[in-house]
Amino acid sequence: MSKVDELRERDNGRFIVTDPVGRFLDKVHVEPNTGCWLWDAHCLPSGYGVFNFGGRVSRAHRVSHELFTGPIPRETQVLHRCDVRCCVNPEHLWLGDNASNVADKVAKGRQAVGESVGSKLTNADVVAIRNSGESAIALGERYGVDRNTIYAVRKRKTWKYVPEAFTALLDLAGTP
Ligand SMILES: [Zn+2]
Repeated sequence: MSKVDELRERDNGRFIVTDPVGRFLDKVHVEPNTGCWLWDAHCLPSGYGVFNFGGRVSRAHRVSHELFTGPIPRETQVLHRCDVRCCVNPEHLWLGDNASNVADKVAKGRQAVGESVGSKLTNADVVAIRNSGESAIALGERYGVDRNTIYAVRKRKTWKYVPEAFTALLDLAGTP
């Protein structure tokens, strides 16, 4: 599809040229305290806004990056500095891969599952358990948990989000 065609929409059999930037900004209002551009149109259950752009339904924050900053390289995620998923302010977005996304969540201390108040195991314990050749019974005694807890950790039924390179990511998260 050519660039010109991308800017057109079919209307009663005729093509009309629409301006994607104007159409996009129509769906935005600025939050005065944070500067977030909040998406007033349709949002996914995950919280991300959606926008029909170039004949495709795309996540609004990704479209914002393309419209105002530049193309998004393949395999690249558009992440929020402000943590507001329905925010489409291009200045609140940055490009990263999945590893930097996880590291960012760790650094902000808002990983949703796993290590939490009341949890007997820590992220570091989970990495150690998965790398250990010891029996589940021995590990259960050492960490003060049931051996079924150890099995679940090893089979990734729990603590799924802790990646193999978690300690490396923690190091990454510590550097600006
Ligand atoms: Zn924002």
